[in-house]
Amino acid sequence: MTALPVTAPFALRARLLSPLDDGGLLDVVDGLLEVGADGRIVRAGAFTEEAPARPVVDLRPLLVMPGLVDLHAHLPQLPNAGLGSGLDLLTWLDRYIFPLEHAYDRSVAERQAPAAWRAFAAAGTTTVVAYAAIWPDSTDAAFAAAEAHGIRAVIGKVMMDRITYDSEIDPGEILETSLRQSDELASRWHGQDGGRLQYAFTPRFAVSCTAEMLRESATLAARHDAYWQTHLSEDEGEITEVKRLFPGAADYLDVYDRAGGLGARTILAHAIHLSGSEVDRLVASGSSVAHCPASNLFLSSGMMPLATYRAAGMRVGLGSDVAAGPEVSIFGVMRAGAVTQRVLELTDRASRADALRPLDWLRAGSLDGARALGMGDRIGSLEVGKEADLIAVDPRFTTPLPDDEPPTDAEELASRLIFRSHPNMVRAAWVRGRALDGPPGRDGIG
Ligand SMILES: [Zn+2]
Repeated sequence: MTALPVTAPFALRARLLSPLDDGGLLDVVDGLLEVGADGRIVRAGAFTEEAPARPVVDLRPLLVMPGLVDLHAHLPQLPNAGLGSGLDLLTWLDRYIFPLEHAYDRSVAERQAPAAWRAFAAAGTTTVVAYAAIWPDSTDAAFAAAEAHGIRAVIGKVMMDRITYDSEIDPGEILETSLRQSDELASRWHGQDGGRLQYAFTPRFAVSCTAEMLRESATLAARHDAYWQTHLSEDEGEITEVKRLFPGAADYLDVYDRAGGLGARTILAHAIHLSGSEVDRLVASGSSVAHCPASNLFLSSGMMPLATYRAAGMRVGLGSDVAAGPEVSIFGVMRAGAVTQRVLELTDRASRADALRPLDWLRAGSLDGARALGMGDRIGSLEVGKEADLIAVDPRFTTPLPDDEPPTDAEELASRLIFRSHPNMVRAAWVRGRALDGPPGRDGIG
């Protein structure tokens, strides 16, 4: 059997399924996708006998899709994914999360980060927006591992000058030290490899940051033209605490607004309990939201009124939020999101007419995520001129019985990938036409 291509240029014959920039769908049962030597897509359409410019690797019956985009993950937390269900947020953090983050020094990151990037790629994720720990050395090691692996990554050192697991540093120096370390990391990594690696200034959330840290980190992000990421309105207890800590702010979002944190390069995770005015302000600011429904269910944080947000024009992509989300798979996140919306229908907080269909969820996990990062012109769909961030999926892993044929209808196929996703179904992943380590390769079924 022909080996999978490792580097561009190459041409793949496969089923093609992708959202399109114009809102449409690319759905070709017998398709041809060509990637040029520069790692960009030069053709995405029907296979024809007329010879393409290069030898064709026949992947049928595999499906080629855009790589998935994870807008929110915590690298140090991966080892404890799936542990602690039923605990409240603070107990869970103390028992399962802060010990891992505290221990995430350079040597741990050098061992774990390469495995983490392989795990994301094996799940079909080709772009990851990640929080490291508060230590600059391990953040640097996570970047170095992403550089070597080939995945597209936006990473930031976590910043906290309140409620921190850093007991060694003088509290009077935390702010200045954290700003300086973040500034240095951004100078070293932001924009590396033609923009494949980017920096996100990462104040954890309002509960663990002073107004000064929020403001200064936003200033640095603007100066580097880098991202600014934090958590917003995940949990009712957290919202109460933010009110107590920032009595002058109109609401939770206003804390970040006053810090100058909102804008087109801002990614806010969760945002599930927003008031109407917060929704309006968030949309007007051009900020994006990382919707993490698997995490929200795991920690019983709440259910996002997604249809209301989308109707208001909010830019929403998907995030695994490992380890509050139990798995890195964005297909699993789509399933959790769909289940959440069905439950909201039962409680009359959502309407069936607004429900996202399986193909809408595929779009949310790819092109919408790319757009949330301002990368919609470069990745997120199989379109000529875009960088070839692709995955090859074997839909035979999702059939209920071994000898069943996968559906030909695109909506039904997407439904199977989401509701019957299998850990081995992603067989290959590429970023800019370069194969990523992680997925097992094409052979396995049949
Ligand atoms: Zn998170």
